[in-house]
Amino acid sequence: MVLYAQANHPQATAVSNKGSTDIHNAATLIPRPEHPISRVNISPNAMKVLYRLKESGYQAHMVGGGVRDLLLGREPKDFDIATDAHPEDVRRLFRNCRLIGRRFRLAHVVFGREVIEVATFRAVHEAGADSAAQQTDQEGRLVRDNVYGDIEGDAFRRDFTVNALYYNVADFSIVDYTGGMADIDAGLLRLIGDPDTRYREDPVRMLRVVRFATKLGFRIEANTEEPIVRLAPLLGDIPPARLFDEMLKLFMGGSALDNFEMLRHYNLFGQLFPMTEQSLAYEGNCFQALVTRGMKNTDTRIAEGKPVTPAFLFALFLWQPVRERAAQLEAQGQHPVQALQHASSQIISEQALVMSTPKRFSLPMREIWMLQLRLEDMGGRRSRRMLSHPRFRAAYDFLLLRAEAGEVPVATGEWWTKFQEDNPQDGVQKTTPARPRKRRRRRSKAKPEVKSE
Ligand code: ATP
Ligand code: MG
Repeated sequence: MVLYAQANHPQATAVSNKGSTDIHNAATLIPRPEHPISRVNISPNAMKVLYRLKESGYQAHMVGGGVRDLLLGREPKDFDIATDAHPEDVRRLFRNCRLIGRRFRLAHVVFGREVIEVATFRAVHEAGADSAAQQTDQEGRLVRDNVYGDIEGDAFRRDFTVNALYYNVADFSIVDYTGGMADIDAGLLRLIGDPDTRYREDPVRMLRVVRFATKLGFRIEANTEEPIVRLAPLLGDIPPARLFDEMLKLFMGGSALDNFEMLRHYNLFGQLFPMTEQSLAYEGNCFQALVTRGMKNTDTRIAEGKPVTPAFLFALFLWQPVRERAAQLEAQGQHPVQALQHASSQIISEQALVMSTPKRFSLPMREIWMLQLRLEDMGGRRSRRMLSHPRFRAAYDFLLLRAEAGEVPVATGEWWTKFQEDNPQDGVQKTTPARPRKRRRRRSKAKPEVKSE
């Protein structure tokens, strides 16, 4: 049965493919002339995937951030596709396709550096209806979500209304089941369904709401906001690798400072960095100033297109906890260098219980810390050698932040600035020349990936 009704958009129609009285049964259709999304703004690779699915007889929609960002006149980070084709069907259609994920099985269609994510419509999880393909744990967390369904169910199991808009390649209309268009217009982030249940199903949604609020400049709707502080501790059950991925999105996306402040406001930051939160709560040090400046710096660098590394961020967040631990060890008689080394190891492993930190980040982070001791002790022949240390630049930037925050004398930073000016070639000379890397063949077996849902 198809129902037609007038909606907010002048020529919009409400359609239903079900004859039930289910509240989910009507979608608003916004035809092409009534919305601004144009094919020229969609990645050609995403269009290729959409067309091939459609020509093979499947439904094919762009969904999520791609639709949301284009409606807001922003450039999408990536293009996600939803279809009724099963992952194995998608693999048959695309040679350049790999299937990933166990908890949430997906197809990735790979075009060089661009990956188009193709997800099969999922059914809504009904309370108490666990099966082998769809399971929740005792806390209500959805630990497996592989029951396929139709577009309508798929819309309602998404997180926010503004993320549940579908761009249909069959007629270029937008399909809206959850009132996402109105929320886009109002600048509102609203969880679909009962917020308590939805956060329990996946506590990472609490981090996502903050990330989208700062990125889009949207307000958080009252019912969506209410449970956050109360349910924040549920993030303790999220695997450390997934929290690391979310941390990167929060702090390496250009809005680190805003995210930091909002996460703290909602009691979420301490779930990610418990030791940092403890140190921040203590007013009698320069740590808050240091972290704030570090965030600002990171955002500025990203805005200027300069490289940033999570190692620097981690070094910043964990600096005060490391210093406090080192001071304790020194008080027990350890030499300052040894104390800092031991403290670094301890803090890194304690943080890893909450959030995993790959070695390629934890090693440079440790070096940034250790170099602080040497930078504070300037002068002599060792100073010249310092300039060629591969981590000198990061450690020097870190030192400058500490000086700005009032933790070390400004003169120490200035000394190193001048020293580099006086010894210009040292830094350049000794950096390792770019050597062509041998290409190693990748094993084709896809590693199970942590997907953001
Ligand atoms: P961006 O890519 O700009 O960070 P996005 O909205 O596209 O934002 P993704 O993480 O790429 O976010 O996810 C794509 C879509 O998948 C989302 O828009 C949302 O519809 C759905 N989704 C992602 N994570 C979750 C989740 N944890 N719970 C429910 N739905 C989710
Ligand atoms: Mg996306």
